[in-house]
Amino acid sequence: MPAPPCASCHQARAALRRPRSGQALCGSCFCTAFEAEVLHTVQAGRLLPPGAVVAVGASGGKDSTVLAHVLRELAPRLRITLQLVAVDEGISGYRDAALAAVRRQAARWELPLTVVAYEDLFGGWTMDSVARSTAGSGRSRACCTFCGVLRRRALEEGARRVGATHIVTGHNADDVAETVLMNFLRGDTGRLARCGGLGSAGEGGALPRCRPLQLASQKEVVLYAHFRRLDYFSEECVYAPEAFRGYARDLLKQLEVVRPSVVLDLVHSAEHLALAPTAQPAPPGACTRCGALASRTLCQVCTLLDGLDRGRPRLAIGKGRRGLDEAPLQTRAGPALSKALPAF
Ligand code: SF4
Repeated sequence: MPAPPCASCHQARAALRRPRSGQALCGSCFCTAFEAEVLHTVQAGRLLPPGAVVAVGASGGKDSTVLAHVLRELAPRLRITLQLVAVDEGISGYRDAALAAVRRQAARWELPLTVVAYEDLFGGWTMDSVARSTAGSGRSRACCTFCGVLRRRALEEGARRVGATHIVTGHNADDVAETVLMNFLRGDTGRLARCGGLGSAGEGGALPRCRPLQLASQKEVVLYAHFRRLDYFSEECVYAPEAFRGYARDLLKQLEVVRPSVVLDLVHSAEHLALAPTAQPAPPGACTRCGALASRTLCQVCTLLDGLDRGRPRLAIGKGRRGLDEAPLQTRAGPALSKALPAF
């Protein structure tokens, strides 16, 4: 049976049905609609004011590739300028190839690219050396938690180097829903409180951050990359299969079978969540070592580096310092994760 005509232009044949609305569209009309929705997200949320210098966290993966491409299309209307900032975590067999994809994108789209490396920023530590240090301690499964803390700081540092006023990341609705679920499962009310909204306004001197793709489903991000023929890196990080996020992802996939709207429902839940006064995180102060935002004497980055340097890796997340002191996770059955894991 031939495909129905596109519900928008009524000329071309439809190439897809939008997962959310069921609307049958041709590839061209779908991409136009996708870009218009991101524009609406940015403008309605007042995420990127005219004149903003925007650092795009570029990993080479599909999400940041789609984000950079869409914002490049929208930049003249938004009156913003873009800078690509990539983080080299020092993961052999993975990051070099991903960075090659970012370099190709920067060259093709004529966007300036800056690469910042963990090794240079964090006293010689790379994710590979962190993983070696934590191996056998029962904490090696928490590589992504370590990495998330370091990457957030590295992206901030890279953005400051290029004179950015704002940071954008490519997290989509599925990523945010996974994060909400993880924080519920961990009882991490502080992080749960930060899941709502489309980003952070830039507390304590940090640059404002936002997620323009937060309302776009992962399926539509993949479809956009397909129809725009974007070149991106799709291998999985070597540390991803160990991550707790994978359990949340598997659970969401199961829930989606019986409730297709579960991803956006979770995102909206986080937006409307109100924490009891007793569960509100204390107002952060400044790290006594580096001056960054901290809820204790040392910020998470200094706590982590301190522990690694002493040969006792630890990290404060969740309730008290419980985070990485939990018992190691059981090996998860099920399909391998299909992408690198975003860090919040
Ligand atoms: Fe870092 Fe992502 Fe790899 Fe985890 S999956 S170690 S967060 S790059």
